[in-house]
Amino acid sequence: MKLMTTVQTVERLRQIFGERVQINEPLARHTTARVGGSAELFLSVTSAEQLMTAAEIAYNAGVPYFVLGGGSNILVADAGISGLVIMNRARKVSFRHSGAGVVCTVESGMNLSSLARQCISRGLGGLEWAGGIPGTIGGAVVGNAGAHGSDIDGQFLAATVWEPGFGVRVYNREDMKYGYRDSVLKRDAALGKARRVILSAELRLKPEPVDVLTARAEGFNAYRKERQPGGASTGSMFKNPENFYAGYLIDTAGLKGFRVGGASISEKHANFFINEGEATAEDIRSLIAEAWNSVREQFGIEMSLEVELVGDWSFE
Ligand SMILES: Cc1cc2nc3c(=O)[nH]c(=O)nc-3n(C[C@H](O)[C@H](O)[C@H](O)COP(=O)(O)OP(=O)(O)OC[C@H]3O[C@@H](n4cnc5c(N)ncnc54)[C@H](O)[C@@H]3O)c2cc1C
Repeated sequence: MKLMTTVQTVERLRQIFGERVQINEPLARHTTARVGGSAELFLSVTSAEQLMTAAEIAYNAGVPYFVLGGGSNILVADAGISGLVIMNRARKVSFRHSGAGVVCTVESGMNLSSLARQCISRGLGGLEWAGGIPGTIGGAVVGNAGAHGSDIDGQFLAATVWEPGFGVRVYNREDMKYGYRDSVLKRDAALGKARRVILSAELRLKPEPVDVLTARAEGFNAYRKERQPGGASTGSMFKNPENFYAGYLIDTAGLKGFRVGGASISEKHANFFINEGEATAEDIRSLIAEAWNSVREQFGIEMSLEVELVGDWSFE
């Protein structure tokens, strides 16, 4: 980013957000894989309005911006991210009755699994599957997070979205064009289009007895604990190709336990790539390349990444 633009943007952001605007903030501490370089500019926001203001300032100044949720579905380059990273901690939640159901309106920085717990304790069903998924509502809405046969799409009613250059618009389910771990926002960002920002979402919930919901959530959590490793990771690295599990393919390709530098492919679940403590983002990217190439060679299947590579990668 040009020095003049940086200085002016920092000044403008500091007029509003004060000393919360930071320079060269290490992102490894804000991502679940615990790797990646620094954000050139970094700001933590606590309301949807602040989130929109920060994105608008960056966009109007021609500065690239990136919304960071829980950092649980991204791999940040070792060289970091140019421009402004906005860490979203806008967490307001409200519930209202609507017919036989309940609508939850939630700001996009709310933690998905905390919301799931809150709903269960209120006797509201629909998010029990989300208990073990890290990250925010924003990340879940963009990536159509899901587990145990359910996903965000199943509960989604609408989202309030800031569109760069246009302003605020409400997206309904059709607008989101959801697919498996995919949405129009995720697809367009991958094509390099200016990133839209989810400010809040409305989710549909259904009253159910608390003990029924608790038992269901506990069942899901136990299943997850048994099959998935702990440690620093981004969860599933690849999407499951049609009719296959990515973990099965990587395992059958003989890569369980395969290591590069400080990163390894989990012995417990081959679609989880673990930072053993000292891994770099490049170590993990090498594992990705190894898994992708081996699966293609052995099975003729070209897997797609579920995790997004963000920041200043140099592919040489
Ligand atoms: C141990 C583990 C288990 C996991 N299990 C599952 C699982 O079972 N199912 C599943 O689906 N996922 C799973 N994941 C992946 C991840 O938790 C989800 O994809 C999650 O929804 C990502 O949310 P996030 O806030 O961390 O997004 P981030 O990683 O912070 O961001 C992901 C993308 O969303 C964008 N984004 C985030 N917030 C906004 C916003 N407000 N507006 C616009 N764009 C935004 C970011 O810019 C980025 O492009 C797992 C991850 C881990 C580490």
